[in-house]
Amino acid sequence: MSLLELDDVSVTYRIASGEVPAVRGVSLKLDSGAALGVAGESGSGKSTLAMALMRLLPRDARVEGRILLDGEDVLTMKWGRMRAVRWAEASIVFQGAQHGLNPVRRIGDQIAEPLLVHGLAKPDAARKRVAELLEQVGLPSWRARSYPHELSGGQRQRVMIAMALACSPRLIIADEPTTALDVMVQAQVLTLIKELVAEHDISLIMISHDLSVLADVCGRLAVMYAGRVVEYGPSAEVFHDAKHPYSRALAAAFPTVGDPASRLAPKGLGGDPPDPMQLPGGCSFHPRCPVALDECATLDVELWPAGERRTAACVHVREKEGAS
Ligand code: ADP
Ligand code: MG
Repeated sequence: MSLLELDDVSVTYRIASGEVPAVRGVSLKLDSGAALGVAGESGSGKSTLAMALMRLLPRDARVEGRILLDGEDVLTMKWGRMRAVRWAEASIVFQGAQHGLNPVRRIGDQIAEPLLVHGLAKPDAARKRVAELLEQVGLPSWRARSYPHELSGGQRQRVMIAMALACSPRLIIADEPTTALDVMVQAQVLTLIKELVAEHDISLIMISHDLSVLADVCGRLAVMYAGRVVEYGPSAEVFHDAKHPYSRALAAAFPTVGDPASRLAPKGLGGDPPDPMQLPGGCSFHPRCPVALDECATLDVELWPAGERRTAACVHVREKEGAS
């Protein structure tokens, strides 16, 4: 059985001027111990999807579909159970560690907090565990007494990872964990995440706009565009031989991990992603697509088979693979 299974998940924000369809009919699976990358430009719905998994969305967000964590439906879980799941079974590392850390509390106390709150350790044991966690993320144990501002960005992100590991979760969701870091530090933090999930047999969902980052860490990749998954498959294949023109453009835009030049000016990706409240008809990508056909403006796209264990939502794939 999969550790996590998303079945036709949609998220709609209700705002004063109407409804924002941020995630539209996403189905994905994550096996125990596996790493799944979720790629896509800013605004494609990646963080919304991540927050839906942990029921962290604001009240004005409507979630539809099913999210099964170890067979249990997250969306119908009682709050008490959900709180327990949040640290003990699945935890999330957000983009930009500065938001996740309290500036006026020592980091050791912040790492220990979930252990104490969930009654998983008494204060003495929690202190020992904090030292062990700091060591695991490559920080000396005396750092427990530091305040967040005394650490560099990379060190703060390591602290966030230590917090995520504290209750030994089975799943970690990392939302742009390295995006705010410079290239060298980015590579170090990625290596750390890779090693930790392998060593502790943790399943990982890693989110990034940078396809090369995900291809480096994850076994499978899902590429999102305008709230939908447009390509899904083994990461090396999606990265080096994308079947969807959008994934191709993303792969070309981010050829190597954290390439500073492509961060400023993504290669080959003209135009902007659509406003979810004004989605183009047919394939949402067609206005920017270099290989669009006339029919793409009205076509009902779906994820068609695109090789072994691969799918892509492109008319060219449907035609080539002979699906109907
Ligand atoms: P990503 O993480 O891929 O950048 P997000 O999930 O943050 O994308 O956003 C997806 C879409 O949902 C965007 O169009 C964004 O403007 C919109 N959105 C995100 N949060 C809210 C919110 N709280 N209320 C209304 N719209 C939102
Ligand atoms: Mg985001």
